[in-house]
Amino acid sequence: NGEARPVFRFAPSPNGPLHLGHALSAFLNFDMAQSFGGRFLLRIEDIDLARTREEHVTGIFDDLAWLGLSWEEPVLRQSEHFATYQAAAHTLLKLGLLYPCFATRAEIAEASKRAPGARDPDGAPLYPGLHKRLAKEEVAERMRRNEPFALRLDMDQALDVLALRTNARRVTFCELAADGTGEEIEADPAVWGDAIIVRKDTPTSYHLACVVDDARQGITHVVRGRDLYAATGLHRLLQVLLGIRRPVYHHHRLLTGPDGRKLAKSAGARPLAEFRDEGVEPAEVRARVDLGHQLPTIPANDRS
Ligand code: GLU
Repeated sequence: NGEARPVFRFAPSPNGPLHLGHALSAFLNFDMAQSFGGRFLLRIEDIDLARTREEHVTGIFDDLAWLGLSWEEPVLRQSEHFATYQAAAHTLLKLGLLYPCFATRAEIAEASKRAPGARDPDGAPLYPGLHKRLAKEEVAERMRRNEPFALRLDMDQALDVLALRTNARRVTFCELAADGTGEEIEADPAVWGDAIIVRKDTPTSYHLACVVDDARQGITHVVRGRDLYAATGLHRLLQVLLGIRRPVYHHHRLLTGPDGRKLAKSAGARPLAEFRDEGVEPAEVRARVDLGHQLPTIPANDRS
């Protein structure tokens, strides 16, 4: 039956052109889907309406087609599904796990400076807890004044719910190695502190939209860059809180530029389209990203 086929996805954000790092990720997902008789889906992660550009969405389709990849239609565009993310946020809200945070960046920076503490895996200071215990009346008043707010996860409470459901205050996920063995990794979601679940400027966050859509699309194997390895602990927490089953993960190595740092749009990595325009062949791009290690093989249905 079709349900048993593994499902992979490539999920770029259209806020800049794709570079070689994206090609590596797309090839890996596509090749793994091919070799295991699975499906390959494309998801456009365009929740950031201010940074999304239609030309980059078109660019993603053009680049992938040029690389010889094909994907199932329809393509999921996250900007068309804000209502679903809001429904998921509502579930967390009803569990008492989210609180509105009106604090501005400047206020947060100031509070972090006054009481320096731990940093999250992205290097940002852990949220110092402003507005965590605002009186109901003040929340109502600020909402009446239309002050923008984010919804943050009350991490302590979330871990209490996690413990009730799983008997542990840590999460685990299965990380697939290149030799096909799955290693059970333990992660502490608390390293993220009171993470933002619904942003001020858009009605979701990367973390929420990602877990909701991985579930909606029936993704069985999340194959993505090592830069998202630490986020997986938070994703697993959200999956438990939302009652979503977990996929298997494989975090692949990141390509680096001549400066030794990871390729990034923000650091001006060369767009794939430039290679194409110079007459580089897709096979050369494959060689250049050097899938290297064997494709991870899929262990017997390791899902829960
Ligand atoms: N949209 C993310 C990116 O462009 C990838 C998210 C994921 O694979 O979970 O880096």
